[in-house]
Amino acid sequence: MKIYLDNAATTPMAPEVIEEMTKVMKNNFGNPSSTHAFGREAKGVIEVARRKIAKLINAEPKELIFTSGGTEADNMAISCAVNDLGVTRVISSPIEHHAVGHCIEGDQPFEVDYVRLSDTGAVDLEHLEELLKKDAKTLVSLMHANNEIGTLLEVDKVSALCKKYKAYFHSDTVQTMGHYKIDVQSFGADFLTCSAHKFHGPKGIGFLYVSKELKVSPMIQGGAQERGMRGGTENITGIAGLAKALELANHEVEEHIAHVQGLKSYMLDELSKRIPEVQFHGEIEPSKSLYTVLNVCFPSFENKSMLLFLLDLEGVACSGGSACTSGASTGSHVLRGINADTNRPNARFSFSRYTTKAEIDYVLEKVEKIVLAQPVS
Ligand code: PLP
Repeated sequence: MKIYLDNAATTPMAPEVIEEMTKVMKNNFGNPSSTHAFGREAKGVIEVARRKIAKLINAEPKELIFTSGGTEADNMAISCAVNDLGVTRVISSPIEHHAVGHCIEGDQPFEVDYVRLSDTGAVDLEHLEELLKKDAKTLVSLMHANNEIGTLLEVDKVSALCKKYKAYFHSDTVQTMGHYKIDVQSFGADFLTCSAHKFHGPKGIGFLYVSKELKVSPMIQGGAQERGMRGGTENITGIAGLAKALELANHEVEEHIAHVQGLKSYMLDELSKRIPEVQFHGEIEPSKSLYTVLNVCFPSFENKSMLLFLLDLEGVACSGGSACTSGASTGSHVLRGINADTNRPNARFSFSRYTTKAEIDYVLEKVEKIVLAQPVS
């Protein structure tokens, strides 16, 4: 038995996406920059995909720049704000993904202010407003949903504050694009980011949405691809796969949400019944929490540091913190950022529309066996 509950790290590709990409791989090998028929056909695949994605998120095609994924898109949003828009101060949080966090820490040509968070990782809006009152050209960079604890940003309020104080707004939507129906107009951000492998698309492809009101320049220099906004021969198959994955994800999204939220609530309830003293990191109220992520804080037990390994031996794949840091000895910066008790064993279970109740039941049984079998140390 092998159960995959690590969908916030990456997701299996949808069969329809593989089919679409295979078709493009077979039929469209031309370089989209070539002016002959092979090139024009390849270019056509990209522009059809761009128009499809733009329609799905209510953007204009010219507002999308294809990138190598979420990391590059996040890096580029910050680079554009600082290098093109004259931003001298960034307001962010200590629990952003490293694709944002590492771009703003250390010695930078701009100031950084970190907004206060609640112990569930929710942004303190009063503090945000206080910070925004300072007279400086500002970028607010706050993620839509945290990838480790699932806490959602109050987007409407943050976007309204950014407008009130004339700050630019970037939101890392890597964990929410393809999981909610995102409409860039109502979202009200200047920059949004997307990564296809988080919603059953391929790895190594994503995009940056940049509001058409902004004039920005490329971060990656080279050819004139992406209307001069990103050098490098385009990942045509990836782009076609991304468009297909987003289309599938948006189709019947309400049903997907209901299904996955049902599984998450079931797992949460069952863990609460079966494991004494179990707690959950982040918001757990459905309206405030990403429905695909459940971060569990278990009571201490003998061999608690082996939790993920023991689950893996039982065929259960989940993670402790984000995949990028799970091997690092420093532990999760997110859990530290919300002052969580990091001495207690923790696991992040993350679900997808392919997850079944039978799988959750299997995992519950194994978790109970591992956590309760050994005396509390
Ligand atoms: N931002 C968040 C919130 C993520 O969860 C991830 C992936 O783990 C990224 C950015 C990076 O995306 P990618 O893997 O496409 O570079």
